[in-house]
Amino acid sequence: PPGLTLVSVPIGNARDVTLRALDVLRGAEVLAAEDTRSLRRLMDIHGIPLNGRRIRPYHDANGARARPALMHALGEGRSVAYASEAGTPMIADPGLKLAREAVSAGIPVTAAPGPVAAVAALTLSGLPTDRFLFAGFPPPGAGARRRWLEGLAGAGATVILYESPRRVHRLLTEMRESFGDGRAAALAREVTKRFEEVIRGTLAEVAEATHGRELKGEVVVMAGPGGGGGAAEDLPALLAEALEGASLRDA
Ligand code: SAM
Repeated sequence: PPGLTLVSVPIGNARDVTLRALDVLRGAEVLAAEDTRSLRRLMDIHGIPLNGRRIRPYHDANGARARPALMHALGEGRSVAYASEAGTPMIADPGLKLAREAVSAGIPVTAAPGPVAAVAALTLSGLPTDRFLFAGFPPPGAGARRRWLEGLAGAGATVILYESPRRVHRLLTEMRESFGDGRAAALAREVTKRFEEVIRGTLAEVAEATHGRELKGEVVVMAGPGGGGGAAEDLPALLAEALEGASLRDA
């Protein structure tokens, strides 16, 4: 397609890429990626030749420098495909400024949608899915993180966070304080990969399960809805409520 296409790529399993995403990668005149090597590998796996194209790096550290060239190509009417390192661009990943500039310049922007770790993890969590709040990575710094968690604790929605495995036990411990020990929770690790694992329980239980254990790989942390209800024992009622509104979608 003309203009900018935001291409979703796998979150672990190389086959989790859409046929359309592959078509876009095959056909785009200009390729840009947060991580050029991982896009190259994905294209190799699926037999998509570069055909003389090089993959231009576009990430947080070089975005301001790399954007003008991409905008220039777009301005000349060339098709540009952008992929982040994993999953969907702009979801805790770069791409927002590029897409905004393209929109401001009147350039068509479209998406070749696909995997998002937050959504895959949510579907595995057993937590209510009718409302969810994706908050990305917690801020560094204990004080900022506590205020941030307190701001999320009352959300009437399942809260979804990204965190590095090294810090996940600390995050869960801090969440016990802001959300309460009894809040329903889940941790999804290595989703779509060989060692995929989901830990479900109360926040206290999930935190205990990660204690003294060296977690490897990538993790998503989730807590059930707060504000009236949200404790693990309220889950059946919350789920029943969510399911009532879901009959049209799931039937
Ligand atoms: N753009 C990506 C998306 O659409 O989900 C997210 C990129 S963000 C930089 C990377 C974080 O996503 C990881 O630290 C982890 O929290 C989460 N993540 C990515 N892949 C994952 C997987 N296979 N299993 C669990 N979490 C994953």
